[in-house]
Amino acid sequence: MNNKPVVTLISKPENMLKTVYTACRTCYSADSPEQIYTAAPDDDAKMLKLIERVISSGHYSTIEHVQVSFAVSNVSRALTHQLVRHRHASFSQKSQRYVKEKGQFDYIIPPTIERDPALKEKFTVFMEQIAAQYQEFIDAGIPAEDARFVLPNAAASSLVVSMNLRELIHIANLRLCTRAQYEIRLMTKLMCDALDEKWLEPYLVPKCKRLGFCDEDKSCGLVPGRVHAG
Ligand SMILES: Cc1cc2nc3c(=O)[nH]c(=O)nc-3n(C[C@H](O)[C@H](O)[C@H](O)COP(=O)(O)OP(=O)(O)OC[C@H]3O[C@@H](n4cnc5c(N)ncnc54)[C@H](O)[C@@H]3O)c2cc1C
Repeated sequence: MNNKPVVTLISKPENMLKTVYTACRTCYSADSPEQIYTAAPDDDAKMLKLIERVISSGHYSTIEHVQVSFAVSNVSRALTHQLVRHRHASFSQKSQRYVKEKGQFDYIIPPTIERDPALKEKFTVFMEQIAAQYQEFIDAGIPAEDARFVLPNAAASSLVVSMNLRELIHIANLRLCTRAQYEIRLMTKLMCDALDEKWLEPYLVPKCKRLGFCDEDKSCGLVPGRVHAG
C-alpha cells in the first residue's frame, strides 16, 4: 500500500495574476476595476511589482478573490481531522456513514512504524482485527455510521478541498513548519507543488521564513529562534 498522499490540482483560474492585480490596483486608482482589468499589462513582472508591494503591506483581501481546488486521497483520518480545522477552506470528504468499508479498509502507516518490521507487523495485524470487527458489526445489521466507531485514525480518506489564496498561504505557513505532523506537511507541500505558480513561491513557505524567526518553543534550525526579552 502506498503511504503517501495523492494530491491533484483540479481547479485554478487561468487569469489568477490578473485577478489579484485588478484587486490591488482598484484600491489605489481612479480607474474602474473593469478598466484596470482590460488594460492590465501583458508583462507579469509589472503586475507582480504592485502585487508584491500590496501583499507585503498586509493588504490581504486582494488575494481572497482567487479560489483553488485540490483532490486529495490516500490520507489518514488523523490528517483530515487537522485539515478541516482550517475554517476558511471548504471540504467534501468521503463519508464513513454512506460508504461502507468492504473487507480490509485502506489505512496509512506512519513512517516511524513502517520502518520497524516488528512494529509494522503488529500494526498490520491490528488493522486486520479492526476490519474483522467492523465487518462483524455490519453483518449483524449495525449501520455503517455506528460500525465506523471502531475504525482508527489510520483509516484512509479522500476529499476535495477548496480555498482562496490567502487561506492557502496561511495553511502553507502553518503546515510546512517542521513542527507540523509529517503527513499534513507532505500533503501541503504537494498542494503547493501542484499549484505550480512561481510568483507564489515566496509566500508558500513555513511561517518562520516570512516572520524571519521561529515562534515555536524550539527552532528546528531553519531560522533562529525568537529572542526572548529579559
Ligand atoms: C503544529 C500545530 C499543532 C496544533 N496542535 C493542536 C492541538 O493540540 N489541539 C488543537 O485543538 N488544535 C491544534 N492545532 C490546530 C490549531 O489550533 C488551529 O485550529 C488550526 O491550525 C487552524 O488554524 P487557524 O485557526 O489559524 O486557521 P483558519 O481556521 O484557517 O483561519 C485562518 C485565520 O483566520 C482567522 N480566524 C478564523 N476563524 C476565526 C475566529 N473564529 N476568530 C478570530 N479569527 C479567526 C485567524 O486569524 C486565523 O489564523 C495545531 C495546529 C498546528 C499547526
